[in-house]
Amino acid sequence: MIPAFNGRSNDFASYIPADNVIDGQIVKPSGTTTVDILNPRHGKAMSTVTFGTAADVDTAVASAQKAFSDWKTWPIRERSQILYKARDIMLRDLEELTWLLSHENGKTYGESKAEVLKGIECLEYGCSLPNLAANESLEVSRGVNCEMRYEPLGVVAGVTPFNFPFMVPLWMLPQALAGGNAFILKPSEVVPLSALKLAAIFQEAGLPDGLLNIVQGGQEVVEALCDHPGIAALGFVGSTRVAKIVYGRAAATGKRALALGGAKNHLIVVPDADVKLTTENVVASFSGCAGQRCMAASVLLAVGDVDPIIDAVKAKTEAMVLGEHMGPVISQAAMERINGYIDDAEKRGATVLVDGRGAAGPDGGYWVGPTLLDNVSPDMPAGCEEIFGPVLSIIRVDTLEQAFTLENNSAYGNAAAIYTTSGHVAKLAMERVSAGMCGVNIGVPVPREPFGFGGWNDSKFGHGNMTGWDGFRFWTRPRKVTSKWALQKDWNWMA
Ligand code: NAD
Repeated sequence: MIPAFNGRSNDFASYIPADNVIDGQIVKPSGTTTVDILNPRHGKAMSTVTFGTAADVDTAVASAQKAFSDWKTWPIRERSQILYKARDIMLRDLEELTWLLSHENGKTYGESKAEVLKGIECLEYGCSLPNLAANESLEVSRGVNCEMRYEPLGVVAGVTPFNFPFMVPLWMLPQALAGGNAFILKPSEVVPLSALKLAAIFQEAGLPDGLLNIVQGGQEVVEALCDHPGIAALGFVGSTRVAKIVYGRAAATGKRALALGGAKNHLIVVPDADVKLTTENVVASFSGCAGQRCMAASVLLAVGDVDPIIDAVKAKTEAMVLGEHMGPVISQAAMERINGYIDDAEKRGATVLVDGRGAAGPDGGYWVGPTLLDNVSPDMPAGCEEIFGPVLSIIRVDTLEQAFTLENNSAYGNAAAIYTTSGHVAKLAMERVSAGMCGVNIGVPVPREPFGFGGWNDSKFGHGNMTGWDGFRFWTRPRKVTSKWALQKDWNWMA
């Protein structure tokens, strides 16, 4: 259905247009807007995407409903066999997937491969569901049995962001499909090609047509997914501004909704922190994926005299080679936005310790070098807004208590971490920071599966985590069955 992507290096490569996938067929989206899909490393169009419309959502829902009527009757063990096969195909096609991701998103080869492998880890959770989701059953009174069954919701949908085009759909798909639903995916219009490959993988694995439909596009498609009465649940991952709108709009139609939003992650560094470990980790956290991770470090809260660590972070940042250790940012607009935050912080009195403005990569494209800002104050935009680029704002404080207060004052609550060699300080931090995913000496504290992914505060709207067991609960509804097969001799109100 979909040709293999043949890029196997950083050299530029073109690809087919990113069309819809409905009922196992590639279908041209019905909208009139067509835009280029840019390879951010080269700043050149590698393909195009035509935006879908509400009519495409209608078509996708009708196809999914038809496919769902049979799929829901499959035992979960049979459904999960498709996931196992998909996993084998992903491992077989690891190089193709890695380069496709790298070309459409700009990540380095290593970062892209890590994304694919993390996506596979999420898929493995789905493979294990037949063993995890055995129905709970209990004899609640003599002769009376209660049983819990997890049943599918029907047709469900997911909307995903540009920064993890392969992994984020796999936060949702395994649990939704193993749970017996039909899924409609609306990928980011900036990186819509990985979704095509995902559809091809599931088709080859034997997933019946219509169970994974893809509708390309932007706001109109997302609004149609929120409003459609034939869609029972919506998962969303993206910025806080859009997450809030999507959560409200989907919930207003009675849908189950979970919307993960943006972040402003704080790393607290105290004087007893290990210099080498902290340095390596802080730099990896703020510059990895060019800072375009919802788990990336954005603020370093420097408690007391941690200058030896800041000096080492500066030296390591300066030694980074663009195109090798770090990729480009996603677009010209992102580059301008990030540079704007640096300009603004400098104007307001911050010290630019390492300046990434004007940096150039090896092949053209959109680049901002890793940037360190010192003496940032919490009220500067660089100190409190999501920048989503390779910029670390250092805010100096005298006490741990001040660090906790600043972290707690952030509207977001995705991740927070402390760097220390003191167990007491680590314990205190893990009790006091206001974030859903926390790290001790780890700057990207992504909970590995089966621990669910999800933040707090303005980083998430809705209940529970997106991955792990919460994900299975989100995409299914529990039926409780109480049975009694014979009248008991010792009858009372409970029997
Ligand atoms: P975005 O919010 O611009 O887009 C996300 C999705 O929403 C896309 O599919 C897009 O087409 C759609 N969309 C955009 N505007 C819309 C509108 N007005 N109405 C309806 N739909 C709309 O996000 P992005 O720029 O693609 O991704 C980066 C953001 O995602 C960052 O804020 C980052 O922190 C966040 N993110 C969060 C997590 C998390 O787990 N919390 C994970 C990854 C990314």
